[in-house]
Amino acid sequence: MTIDTPVPLRETLVGIDPYGAPEIAGVVRLNVNENPYAPSPALRAELMRAVQNGLSEINRYPDRDATALRSALAGYLGGGLRVDQIWAANGSNEVITHLLLAFGGPGRTVATLTPTYSMYPQYARDTMTHFLTWPREPDFTVSIETVEGLRDAHQVDILMIAAPNNPTGTATPLAVIDAICGLSDWLVVVDEAYQEFTEEPSDSATALLAKHRNLVVVRTMSKAFAFAGARLGYLAADPGVVEACRIVRLPYHLSATTQALALAAIENAAEPLAHVAALRETCQATQVWLRSLGLDVPASETNFALFGPFTDRHTIWAALLDRGILVREVGPVGYLRVSMGTPDEMVLFRQALVAVLDQTPMKEIT
Ligand code: PMP
Repeated sequence: MTIDTPVPLRETLVGIDPYGAPEIAGVVRLNVNENPYAPSPALRAELMRAVQNGLSEINRYPDRDATALRSALAGYLGGGLRVDQIWAANGSNEVITHLLLAFGGPGRTVATLTPTYSMYPQYARDTMTHFLTWPREPDFTVSIETVEGLRDAHQVDILMIAAPNNPTGTATPLAVIDAICGLSDWLVVVDEAYQEFTEEPSDSATALLAKHRNLVVVRTMSKAFAFAGARLGYLAADPGVVEACRIVRLPYHLSATTQALALAAIENAAEPLAHVAALRETCQATQVWLRSLGLDVPASETNFALFGPFTDRHTIWAALLDRGILVREVGPVGYLRVSMGTPDEMVLFRQALVAVLDQTPMKEIT
C-alpha cells in the first residue's frame, strides 16, 4: 500500500500494509484464534462492578506499575513467582515490543524459528532490531541441533520461540527449551500464548525460570482466558527484565479500566477456563477429521489447526467465505488455519469444507 504523507515516511515503512486479518461481519469467525465463548451474564456483572468501582478515581492516572494486577498474575501462574518477576501490558504484542525495545534495537538481532507468528518481524521492524529467521524441522518441531546451528552461524541477541507455535500448533518439550537456554547467553523468549490448551498446561517454561536468568515466558489473556477484547498480555522473567520493561514502557500504559477488568477476570478465572478442555478436545477431533479427508494437519496443541496443502489456498479460503466461514490464509504455502469455535460453528465449518472440497477439482487439492 502506498500512502500519501505530508512528510516522508520512515523508509522501512514505505509500501507496508497495516497488519491484520480481514474483519468481516456476519460470518463464522474462525480466523484469529479467539475463544468463541462470550462471558456469561454473571461474569459480565463482575466485570462491570470492577470498572464501576474504579470510576470514582478515573480523574487520576492509574497505578503505573499495575502492582495488584501483576500480583494476581503471579498467583495465577503459581510456582512461587513473585510480583517483581511479572510484567503486564496491552496484549502480549505490547509485552514483546517492550522486550525488543529494551533488549533489541539498532545493532542487535532477534531470531525466530520459522514458520512462526507473523507479528515477530513487525516488532523487529518497529524497534529497529535486525530480524533473522531460521527454519524449524520439516515437521515444524524445534530440535536442539537446529538451534545449535543457528547459534554457530549467527550472533543472536534474542531468540523468540512460540511454544506451542502459531500457525503450526507444534509444541516444544520443556527439555528442549531448557537446553536452548543453556546454548548461549542470548535472551530466550518463549511465547506461550496457547499454553493452557496443551496436554499438560503445568509444563510451562515458567518452571525453568529459577534455573535460567536469560529466559522470559510471555503469556496472554486473549486466548484461553477469552479476554482478547480487553488487551492484556504479561510475562514472567528475572526481575531485571521486568525493570528493563519499566524503562521503555510509556507511563500509565495500562489504563485503570484494563487493570480493573483483568483483575476481575483473574478472580473469576474458573468460568473462562472451564471451556479450555472442550476447545482442546474440539481441536484434537478436528485434526483427526481433517486428516480423514486426506489433508495434511501438523499435530496441534492449541485451539487451532493448520490444514492443506492446496494448490491455490486463496480459492479454498474464498469458497469457504462464500459459505459464511472465515478462516486464515497464513503459514506455509498452500495451508489454511482454522480456529476452534463452538460445536455449532464447527459443524458449519465441516459442512462448508466438505462442500468446497466436493466442488474443487482434485488438481487444486494436492
Ligand atoms: N503470540 C502469539 C503466538 C499469538 O498467536 C498471538 C495472537 N495471535 C500473540 C502473541 C498476541 O496476542 P495478544 O497481543 O492478543 O496477547
